[in-house]
Amino acid sequence: QSKAKGRNAICFFDSSMQEILEKRGQLETALRGALERKEFLLHYQLQMDSSGRPIGAEALLRWNNAKLGSVSPVQFIPVAEESGLILPIGHWVLETACAQLARWQSDPRFNRLCIAVNVSAIQFREAAFVAKVRNVLQQSGIQPWLLKLELTESLVLDDINDSILKMEALKNLGVKFSMDDFGTGYSSLSYLSRLPLDQLKIDQSFVRDITTTDQHDAAIVQTIISMALSLGMEVIAEGVETEEQREFLDLRGCQAYQGYLYAKPMPIEELEIKLAQLT
Ligand code: C2E
Ligand code: MG
Ligand code: MG
Ligand code: MG
Repeated sequence: QSKAKGRNAICFFDSSMQEILEKRGQLETALRGALERKEFLLHYQLQMDSSGRPIGAEALLRWNNAKLGSVSPVQFIPVAEESGLILPIGHWVLETACAQLARWQSDPRFNRLCIAVNVSAIQFREAAFVAKVRNVLQQSGIQPWLLKLELTESLVLDDINDSILKMEALKNLGVKFSMDDFGTGYSSLSYLSRLPLDQLKIDQSFVRDITTTDQHDAAIVQTIISMALSLGMEVIAEGVETEEQREFLDLRGCQAYQGYLYAKPMPIEELEIKLAQLT
């Protein structure tokens, strides 16, 4: 009897592994050709300064597939990275965000707003990454400082020397940098000071608990803000959902905010309506 049980357990394990692999394969198959079928779009999430003025938006990728429906980037980005498909997809994101900045450039209501774009490690490590960004900047004709590239700690630290070289080359073009999900990785102060970063983005996992239970998270947030300010970087908090969180952050010197308190990620038409109401 126990043998039969054991065999069942193995079967169960196998079939769930198989399910994961099948799901992954299914995603990868559907991802191939998704660009050509125009299944991607960008949503934009408002970013505000501490006096309640809009400063820009983060571009967040959305994927709608006929068979799979709407798939979260949390699910499909890892598959896109493993399959290499993130290269053309990431390039499309960059081009689309810069085309949006170019449209905003001729509209006095929106021409000072920046757009933040998430960059995958696979993209950033590509030898041609700097050249690709330069081409997109030239083709779109935008003011480069309106484009902010979001990198993560693990991406940057994975090859710190290559990261610094590429970041400096891009800084020379005028592009801005933000360190996304900050606090979840292992950046030391000495690394951080070597990087030409313009902004630190406090990860939402810290923001979530600051005003309620977690004394540690509150202390970490305080430390991140002090550190960023002393290094001359701007601090933005992501995942801000309540007025209490905003106030806690504001009292400690946080300069910018992003989260459901202000707006969810939304199609550009909706964001523009929202922006027009705010300005
Ligand atoms: P991220 O860059 O840290 O983006 C923030 C995520 O938090 C977004 O999830 C956003 O919708 C969500 N969020 C914003 N405000 C709040 C809030 O107040 N509360 C809560 N609970 N969540 C909030 P989303 O859009 O599902 O994206 C997830 C992740 O997928 C992103 O995290 C980013 O790592 C990745 N991603 C999205 N678009 C792209 C892209 O174009 N390229 C790459 N490489 N990665 C992307
Ligand atoms: Mg981001
Ligand atoms: Mg983030
Ligand atoms: Mg995050």
